Amino acid sequence: IAKDRGRAHYRFYQEQMNLAFPNDALMESHLRRAIEKEEFSIHYQPQVNLVTGEINSFEALLRWNNRKFGYVSPMNFIPLAEESGMIMQIGEWVLEEVCKQLKYWQEKGYRPVRIAVNISPKQFIQDNFARKINEKIQKYGISPSSLEVEITESAMTDMQDTFSTLKELKNIGVVISIDDFGTGYSSLSYLKKYPIDIIKIDQSFIKDMELDDKNTAIARTIIQLAHNLGMEVIAEGVEKDRQVEILKAANCQKAQGYLFSKPVSIEHINESYMQRTKP
Ligand code: C2E
Ligand code: MG
Ligand code: MG
Ligand code: MG
Repeated sequence: IAKDRGRAHYRFYQEQMNLAFPNDALMESHLRRAIEKEEFSIHYQPQVNLVTGEINSFEALLRWNNRKFGYVSPMNFIPLAEESGMIMQIGEWVLEEVCKQLKYWQEKGYRPVRIAVNISPKQFIQDNFARKINEKIQKYGISPSSLEVEITESAMTDMQDTFSTLKELKNIGVVISIDDFGTGYSSLSYLKKYPIDIIKIDQSFIKDMELDDKNTAIARTIIQLAHNLGMEVIAEGVEKDRQVEILKAANCQKAQGYLFSKPVSIEHINESYMQRTKP
């Protein structure tokens, strides 16, 4: 227990430490060397089944702890990585790490769980994205359904290319989710055209939902919409019991948020969620 507390405390300290980079150019030059300097890690946030309490999936969230400037939020460095094109390499690194992790669990004989990976629009629209995903799955010999790709509405620019990439991913057997649903500008018609498995309700609709009837109305409508289309739904950013009550009453199956757990290290995931279920 003492060990656990130590680690939790360390992580907290780490994430608090945020000595902002004085400018983007300097951040970019450090970001360029982040992979080789092993400054990246991945934290995992559990996704909780609101009916059964089970946890069978996690979202992978990239963490960057720079030796000089400390912890940098993905909200700051992902946009820069996208602008500079570095997101291609970084995204590749994340996919490799996640597939390695899934293979490790599979080899250990742990129960099947799924990891959801955030895919940037640039990654998604590259030629052969689906083929690259398939190569990774083959390389590590993992079950395709243990991998989920989270894409945003902004990735769906060209209708024909988006459709064929999603269809290929679907054929491979990868799970497809729409992240930050409700914040993009696309029309709803893509929901009927594309083979989407899961809708993730953006946290802006969950935040203050217990005080804001409009947010509740929107969340309820998204849940209904997903169910009517035969899709699953996950609520993001759940922080309060009252939000869980509202979501359960609206038949929302799954949620993730600080109420259940912050994104945590792989060691923590192994100790808290995997060890106990070893056969
Ligand atoms: P996202 O994919 O929508 O991820 C959810 C964000 O909400 C995460 O922030 C998570 O830590 C945070 N979160 C989870 N539960 C709660 C809660 O209850 N309350 C609040 N206030 N926040 C909560 P994070 O880790 O800072 O990531 C921010 C964004 O950066 C992500 O948003 C995603 O768009 C992007 N990102 C993170 N990792 C990657 C990655 O590997 N690749 C790409 N392309 N983008 C990533
Ligand atoms: Mg996400
Ligand atoms: Mg996102
Ligand atoms: Mg999101």
